[in-house]
Amino acid sequence: MQRRAGPRAPSPHPRPQAELVVPATRVVVIGGGPAGNQAASRAASLGAHVALVEREVVGGAAHLWDCIPSKAMVATAGALSFSRRMSGLGFATGAAPRQVDYDALRQRIIEVTARLGRSVEELLGSQGVRTLAGEARFTGPHSAVVESPGGAAEELDFDAALVSTGSRPRVPDWASPDGERVLTTRQAYPPPELPEHLVVVGSGVTGVEFVHMFSSLGSKVSLIVSRQHVLPHKDAEVAAALEDELLRRGVALYKGARAARIERDDAGVTVHCDDGRCVSASHVLLAVGSVPNSDHLGLERAGVEVDKWGYVPINHHCQTNVPHIYAAGDVSGKLPLSSVASMQGRKVAEHIMGLHTREHRHIDYDKAASAIFTEPEIADVGLAEAEAFASGRKIRVTKVPFAATAKALINDDPRGFVKIISDPATGVVLGGCVVGNQASELISVIALAVTAGLEVADLVESCLVHPSLAEAIADAAE
Ligand SMILES: Cc1cc2nc3c(=O)[nH]c(=O)nc-3n(C[C@H](O)[C@H](O)[C@H](O)COP(=O)(O)OP(=O)(O)OC[C@H]3O[C@@H](n4cnc5c(N)ncnc54)[C@H](O)[C@@H]3O)c2cc1C
Repeated sequence: MQRRAGPRAPSPHPRPQAELVVPATRVVVIGGGPAGNQAASRAASLGAHVALVEREVVGGAAHLWDCIPSKAMVATAGALSFSRRMSGLGFATGAAPRQVDYDALRQRIIEVTARLGRSVEELLGSQGVRTLAGEARFTGPHSAVVESPGGAAEELDFDAALVSTGSRPRVPDWASPDGERVLTTRQAYPPPELPEHLVVVGSGVTGVEFVHMFSSLGSKVSLIVSRQHVLPHKDAEVAAALEDELLRRGVALYKGARAARIERDDAGVTVHCDDGRCVSASHVLLAVGSVPNSDHLGLERAGVEVDKWGYVPINHHCQTNVPHIYAAGDVSGKLPLSSVASMQGRKVAEHIMGLHTREHRHIDYDKAASAIFTEPEIADVGLAEAEAFASGRKIRVTKVPFAATAKALINDDPRGFVKIISDPATGVVLGGCVVGNQASELISVIALAVTAGLEVADLVESCLVHPSLAEAIADAAE
């Protein structure tokens, strides 16, 4: 279960088997997102001389464009949505709902991202990491050049290098984003004005998060869903729970439709679908996946191969086909999640510094937890029910609705459920999902159980806080 990078077939990455056993000391990291800054920090703490090159902001697209700004906006959207439901908690009905100050929201997003960026830079600085502002490209297997914004160039030699250049939004050839009415996800934090009517193209994780944000903020929203339900890669029951909520909010779903053309005039936009349907609105947002930043990097000069989509294939140590050059984060074509990128970055640093010869656990991408910050929140980890049925694996599925939990009733939010997938023979927890309030926090308990190989009995016999939403996890494991 994952946040998909885009509409591409599963990459049949070749898996280079090279092993590097000699600790290297001069490390060049290209790209300062979660993968790059974690690698730089860990390598420096292990004694390497690290140069980190970043062309925009240390913290990466994750801080500047993706996770952090989107979740800052989700926090505002969630609070607004909550304020509309407060009468259920004993507040007087009829009070005017709170209004969003759009300029204050924009300022808040800028401040949150800047503050996080500063703290990453300060940490790296305190660890002795040399941060270079500019664009890097390889000039050979052991050298790179950095071109600074002022035009100066600096040569860097390295024993090991990390490509952690991330990805950028995919722009289909039928669309021309203009930052005004036709927007990519990077132009929507928030856009210049609150859209009166927003069409979101793409119903994956990113698309539905934007639907949640803008419908909470007060925009009319239409969603183009190319399949028969939203979140095509998620549990069907989970997708259905989200669809119910979207319909309840009045979101128009155009199912089985593929956007094929956008017309723009002074009044707004019209999105034409390939089945003849069209929808006119004030703005359109494209959320149709991403493409890796592997071009203009001189990878061929270093001998590093890319696959046909531009991703850099890696082995379980995140080594490319050139053993002392690593790739991590979105550019590696693995799970495009900030949490996974960070973990890869740390593992890369440890491998470069020879720590993998001690007890070393490889990243198990199948056990990475992920969340969708909609209302209700959705989170999952490990084996999914549909996956198990498809492979013929016997599983035990147990489910408890939050409506059966005291804390959910106290919170006046009984929406959603917890589902646990376990092995019927051993009781080992294989996976699970949570739909509802705090799902992104609650999934951590199931993620820990999956990673540590715990049994359902371990969850049932944990003496949890009462009343708490986590009690639903113990009940679902019963
Ligand atoms: C809208 C949206 C919301 C998301 N929300 C979440 C979320 O809630 N949770 C989550 O886990 N994931 C989320 N993701 C995914 C997450 O943002 C990415 O997986 C993560 O940013 C990947 O980290 P990275 O280190 O690979 O690259 P990035 O964060 O993309 O950083 C790469 C950096 O490399 C720099 N760079 C590129 N080329 C060069 C060069 N030649 N020289 C110097 N610097 C260069 C770029 O400027 C950039 O700063 C979201 C994605 C999107 C699109």
